[in-house]
Amino acid sequence: MQFIIGFLAAIIIAALAWRAGALSRSGALAAVFTGSFIFGLGGLPWAILLLTFFISSSALSRAFGKRKAGLAEKFSKGNQRDWGQVMANGGLGALLALAYTIQPQPEWMWLAFAGAMAAVNGDTWSTEIGVLSPISPRMITSGKKVERGTSGGITFTGTMAAVGGAALIGIAAVVFSPTPDWFSQLVIIILAGLLGSLFDSVLGATIQAIYWCPTCNKETERHPLHLCGTQTSQLRGWSWVNNDVVNFACSVMGAILAVGFAYLYHLL
Ligand SMILES: [Zn+2]
Repeated sequence: MQFIIGFLAAIIIAALAWRAGALSRSGALAAVFTGSFIFGLGGLPWAILLLTFFISSSALSRAFGKRKAGLAEKFSKGNQRDWGQVMANGGLGALLALAYTIQPQPEWMWLAFAGAMAAVNGDTWSTEIGVLSPISPRMITSGKKVERGTSGGITFTGTMAAVGGAALIGIAAVVFSPTPDWFSQLVIIILAGLLGSLFDSVLGATIQAIYWCPTCNKETERHPLHLCGTQTSQLRGWSWVNNDVVNFACSVMGAILAVGFAYLYHLL
């Protein structure tokens, strides 16, 4: 019964998001799939974390979309999320919801899910808000100043935004799944989310495939064609590591860190 309600809720939300332009058609299908698992198998607290991520990050994309438009040539994808982005952000959550149903061990699976959502939310917030920073980003690995929108570049504004995005997930997690250790859980989720989104930047600076447009003389995530129509060639990174792979790894890191910190603090 809960699964049917979850499935119907996922269809309604995905359809609304598709009509609002937040999801492409393939993104809406993937959202029905991941949403059904997370809502239907995880139940209300799981649904609330997924929606907190989805609504807050879509709202930020929309709010700052115009100011970010000049950087569209850098990012591999626009504001409409496609299936790859949806699976990268929600795929691990769907797997955890499935595992939770097969063998309910709510404590660590719930924390892993919260850590994953905090990491992807922190990462999305830092990308959306970080590009507004008046100060140029620095590469997380070398500290060198880079152009705005460069993968692996971080700013103070973006890092604070990551803390905010992770904190919103942490607050939703402790409010809707209360425990006596709520404060430690909150700190753990924020820390896992922040470090998970910084891990995303480390991967962006190292193994993510980055391309070069010879016409614009610019770095970009876009391949095979740049927005200008020119064919891009690989500049650095591994060819199979695109933005979706990096985002999925960010969610895995958030999950592992949340569970790891909870073990260290004897919460599990
Ligand atoms: Zn170009």
